Amino acid sequence: MKAVIFDLDNTLFDHTGSAAAAVQAWIPQLGGTPSDALLAEWFAIEDRVYPRWIAGELTHQGQRRARLHEFLPLLDYPVPATEPEQDEFFAGYLELYKANWSAYPDARPALEVARSNDWRVGILTNGSTVQQNAKLEVIGLADLVDVVCTTESLGVSKPDPQSYLRTCAHLGVTPAETLMIGDNLDLDVLGAQAAGLTARHLNRPAGHLLTDLLPRVWQQYDELADDLSPRTDEDWPTDRELIDHEVVATEEDK
Ligand SMILES: [Mg+2]
Repeated sequence: MKAVIFDLDNTLFDHTGSAAAAVQAWIPQLGGTPSDALLAEWFAIEDRVYPRWIAGELTHQGQRRARLHEFLPLLDYPVPATEPEQDEFFAGYLELYKANWSAYPDARPALEVARSNDWRVGILTNGSTVQQNAKLEVIGLADLVDVVCTTESLGVSKPDPQSYLRTCAHLGVTPAETLMIGDNLDLDVLGAQAAGLTARHLNRPAGHLLTDLLPRVWQQYDELADDLSPRTDEDWPTDRELIDHEVVATEEDK
């Protein structure tokens, strides 16, 4: 391996936690009472509407407006009449979302392993260039990343094979030299494998950690070295053993 490509949302960046905290704080501002059901609706709407931006049916701002049209009626809250008003309204949520941006605790250690392996490090995300780069800056990981590729910057999205191939090209590596890690089986694993990369699925609900999925090259060398050479003086024969051996050998010669 010469490079690793990470997905961003729910892989390095805790999107679900950040968004959940934001929605829980936002709902009371809209006169509602936060509940697990409303939170589940927020994410269900996001899952339904966001792909319409990926598919080119809506602009990035347009998918935000569409989410308001679906979510606010659940609170009996009127959707602002004009698009500028809707954008200003959505900014209230975004402010809370940004205030809660956070990396998973294993994100920086994983990036540091990749760097200590002397690997190139890329991000491939189905997101907007400005927002995804801002996330990396705010959560303090931007300095460990060589290349950030987004739906906007590439003009294609996962699982289009070109998304992985172009990210590899930006990193200056071939797909065969590249490991992809992400939380979405279809987008981060199966799509990457179809494009010729090695891929590993980060299943956080099953307890996976990024650091478990990332081989540590120098540790492997260290372990190999341990197998090949004695670790302590006790592993070497003592002078007494060497002498006894010579004695035995001498007797056998007789
Ligand atoms: Mg993801």
